[in-house]
Amino acid sequence: MKDIKVLFVEDDEEIMLPFLDILKLYFDDVDTANNGEEGLKKATNNKYDLVITDIEMPKMNGIEMIKKIKEIDDKTKFIVITAHSERENLIKLIELGVDGFLIKPITSKQISKILNKVSGSIIKDKKLMKYIQETERLSKVKSEFVANMSHEIRTPLNSMFGFIKILQEKDLDEESKKYLNIIEKSGENLLIIINDILDFSKIEAGKMGVEEIEFNPKEEIEVIHNLFASSASEKDILLELKNNLKWCITSDPTRIKQVISNLLSNAIKFTPKHKKIILNAQYDENKEELLIEVIDGGIGIPKEKLEHIFESFSQVDNSITRKYGGTGLGLTISHKLIELLGGELKVESEVDKGSKFYFTIPAKKTKFCPKNEKIETKNILDEKFNKHILIVEDNPANQMFMKVILNKMGLTFDIANDGFEAIEKFKNNTYDLILMDENMPNMNGIEATKKIREIEKENNLKHTIIVALTANALDGDKERFILAGMDDYLSKPLDVEKLKTILEKL
Ligand code: ADP
Repeated sequence: MKDIKVLFVEDDEEIMLPFLDILKLYFDDVDTANNGEEGLKKATNNKYDLVITDIEMPKMNGIEMIKKIKEIDDKTKFIVITAHSERENLIKLIELGVDGFLIKPITSKQISKILNKVSGSIIKDKKLMKYIQETERLSKVKSEFVANMSHEIRTPLNSMFGFIKILQEKDLDEESKKYLNIIEKSGENLLIIINDILDFSKIEAGKMGVEEIEFNPKEEIEVIHNLFASSASEKDILLELKNNLKWCITSDPTRIKQVISNLLSNAIKFTPKHKKIILNAQYDENKEELLIEVIDGGIGIPKEKLEHIFESFSQVDNSITRKYGGTGLGLTISHKLIELLGGELKVESEVDKGSKFYFTIPAKKTKFCPKNEKIETKNILDEKFNKHILIVEDNPANQMFMKVILNKMGLTFDIANDGFEAIEKFKNNTYDLILMDENMPNMNGIEATKKIREIEKENNLKHTIIVALTANALDGDKERFILAGMDDYLSKPLDVEKLKTILEKL
């Protein structure tokens, strides 16, 4: 057998030599040792699939050696050469989980039987190992592919949203406005599905991380409540908010909001007209735990389906997809996110009565939160800035969108189509800010930034603020951008409010 590596440990040469000849008939790769100590040394430096050993040996006996080798590699199989008189040892060896015995006097029939049995199980283990490794590799390849595809789909969608916003500001007739709203709504639905797929593949690839930031949960919950109260009211559903929130806490507000949004949109989707939904948020300041409950008076979930409800692509039955739509990923993602936040998403439900989805997560309190400040609703595009900017972006639709936005903000700008052009433009001009796309042909944003920082250093130039633009911030991306010399990053579609904050600081 070619793939099996064997170590034969025996101190008695009279047994060793003839036995070795027999072993070589079975295996291509056989190593030898003269006692337990030497056997252990060899097993420490090599990986053996099978160790065949005597028990009584000088320096270290077979039992000690097996124990120690098992600590190093619990996959190694053992065949022990022993005699009926060694009963005591037999019991110890069985307890140790030895795979086979050769009882003296050894016959060729005995050898062939035991070697075939043990090597058969080694080959099976190896095949299984290979299968597991291959499955893991394929799953990783699939997750990366999905993440890349989602990114590719989001890029054109982002520019589509940008232009919808611009068109909405124009003086359109009622019919055009209606069509534009339908286009926007369909785009938003598509984006939700793509985001779900992206999140799901991030979770599967083990790349989903959660943050620890201080925030005001009352403010965040009220924003979500307002957002969903209006879509609930379209179905004449009352969305009631209950809470005792006074403290600012640390956890990941984005992920908490993502889960609550998913639970609320399900609750609204699966609750008939004129019923009530409760969003309950309670903070236990002694235990430092946040409890969130979403209680609906909807169609409920049958008992036998409840235990599978958090599995991927699980929907109670196919007619649900036809009637209500959805991917069946929302709850899986939510369940995983709550796990990452240190809690567990649970459900109680009764058919035709309603469902309660709830979770508790640890969240340290930081201070009494300030009262909500009224947010000014001035059109952010009204404010004008007197700054000169370099846009580094390869996608023509995104370029056009940025042109419109930056023009409206009173900014002047140049455009570079890739990293090389960016460096050329940087050498010949002075900019207050560089907005740098990450993914570009010829030279990407990271490479271009590194080069610009080098030029600044060589020529003693002042530091130009470079902000990365990315359509798909994965965990660890921020660190990558900062390491390359960027100062900040903005995600696409461009958040004008955030761009304004950056411009104000210049
Ligand atoms: P989606 O809603 O996108 O199909 P989810 O993972 O969010 O995916 O939900 C999975 C399934 O669980 C839904 O299709 C539905 O059958 C069931 N479900 C979720 N929330 C509720 C609810 N509040 N009431 C009744 N059924 C629900």
